[in-house]
Amino acid sequence: MITGKNYIGNQLSAEGNKVFNTFNPMLNKENKWAITEASADEVNQAVELAAEAFKSYSKISGAKKAEFLRAIAKEIEALGDTLLEVYCAESGLPQGRALGERGRTIGQLLAFANHIEDGNWVEASIDTADSNRQPLPKVDLRKMNVPLGPIVVFGASNFPLAFSTAGGDTAAALAAGCPVIVKSHPMHASTGELVASAVIKAAQNTGMPHGVFSNLNSSGIEVGQLLVQHPKVKAVGFTGSIKGGRALLDLAAKREEPIPVFAEMGSVNPVVLLPKSLNNRAEAIAKTYAGSITLGAGQFCTNPGLILGVKSQGLTHFINVLAQEIIKVEPSCMLHPNIAAAYERNKKKALSQKGLEVLASYENEVNINYGRQAVTTVDGSTFLNNPTLHHEVFGPFSLVVQCENESQLEIIISKLEGQLTGTIISDNNEVSDYINIVNALQNRVGRIIFNGVPTGVEVCASMQHGGPYPASTDSRFTAVGVDSIKRWVRPFSYQDWPNNLLPDALKNENPLGLLRKVNNFKTTAKI
Ligand code: NAP
Repeated sequence: MITGKNYIGNQLSAEGNKVFNTFNPMLNKENKWAITEASADEVNQAVELAAEAFKSYSKISGAKKAEFLRAIAKEIEALGDTLLEVYCAESGLPQGRALGERGRTIGQLLAFANHIEDGNWVEASIDTADSNRQPLPKVDLRKMNVPLGPIVVFGASNFPLAFSTAGGDTAAALAAGCPVIVKSHPMHASTGELVASAVIKAAQNTGMPHGVFSNLNSSGIEVGQLLVQHPKVKAVGFTGSIKGGRALLDLAAKREEPIPVFAEMGSVNPVVLLPKSLNNRAEAIAKTYAGSITLGAGQFCTNPGLILGVKSQGLTHFINVLAQEIIKVEPSCMLHPNIAAAYERNKKKALSQKGLEVLASYENEVNINYGRQAVTTVDGSTFLNNPTLHHEVFGPFSLVVQCENESQLEIIISKLEGQLTGTIISDNNEVSDYINIVNALQNRVGRIIFNGVPTGVEVCASMQHGGPYPASTDSRFTAVGVDSIKRWVRPFSYQDWPNNLLPDALKNENPLGLLRKVNNFKTTAKI
């Protein structure tokens, strides 16, 4: 049942006086669920409870935390069709996408459960003492990763499940041993409440401390601001706009104790089309990209918003086919009227830039809140001289830049803002003649793709989802895959600490059987 209340730990609570409804963009009307925004007092209660829960939750074994994460996955599944229906009603996304995203969310929770169960993730490192060392004896030092403390997670508008309430950030923080306070996204607050109820049930069934998880509603930026400023919050996870992420980063930096904000923000995901590939298969590439640009109404952080090539017959052919193909795609519903309006506004701004030519723009009547695709083109110098053209237009939009030559292509790539991904489309070994282009791209992105599309982010240990600013606030970390746990921990050393008081991961007997670095060698041996 959806109550519209906040979860302050295990307790449903609605002390605030601001009530709002989520919106069904397909039906273009408000949903029936009335949601109560958390009050300042409730924000404080949730953080205080999380800080208290941290004392015990940070010490719980990997096996117990894994049991908790698996129970969350089970409870989400048990929400059944209700969750899928509410998801669709609050996002305008189709049932198939709801199913896929639920599967991904469950998969992420299970992946973290497997990752932490054996304890190796703490990266135990031991340097034993040497009392005979000259001129000074060497101390005994033992290091491992320990959790940071209460984490605030901002739900993402474009992934109501996989990057929201029990999404990647929450799963990673809970796996690390950090209590989580979710700032639910106002566009899908009821979906958020259902998932929160699953997390709370799992926490109770597996004996987790009260306050290990809270879910707070908001319809404006105040709740998020209060959370980021709260002295007992130790880090923040965010997915959304550059404006929102940057505001939170600045707010966190201004605190008396600054804290890290891991924000994953905008990206245009440049795609470089090499000449031979264009000569040989421009048509096939264009068809593939018409699909990628319009996938999910273009509402993916990895949407290919910028396509780069050197002027040639092949590039002209690609452009013509892309224009023909993209217009055949039926537009689809965007997440919310505000997102649809922002898309129309940003598209209009891009289309009005001097020197920009519209290749194709879907102009037929569509249902309200549907995103009408457009592809455009400019020459390399116009692009270089107009920063507006470098900005993301969140939706089914892409810009093809026609460069004069290879050296202009390299300059353009090197002047791009930081990106999540970069893609090279190449024929056979053609790419080996363009190492300078590959190197330039590598400097601007977090992940490089060969002969594919950037949309589609595999959840696995080797995924890097995060790139140089503004793609993310810290390119050393990923937001997807089990390595994202590293955002919520800090390395901690014990010096000459009594063996019986050390955590199991660092004890001489190695009771967990971990693969540890002992005096610079990896071993599972006892000391
Ligand atoms: P957003 O505006 O960045 O908001 C995301 C979350 O951050 C919301 O919960 C919002 O709170 C909060 N927030 C924003 N500014 C804040 C501030 N100054 N202080 C405290 N909290 C703040 O993103 P959105 O609502 O999801 O969508 C808006 C636009 O963001 C989209 O049109 C798109 O351009 C971009 N976006 C990009 C990606 C991507 O992956 N690249 C993903 C999603 C969205 P309230 O909503 O409660 O105000």
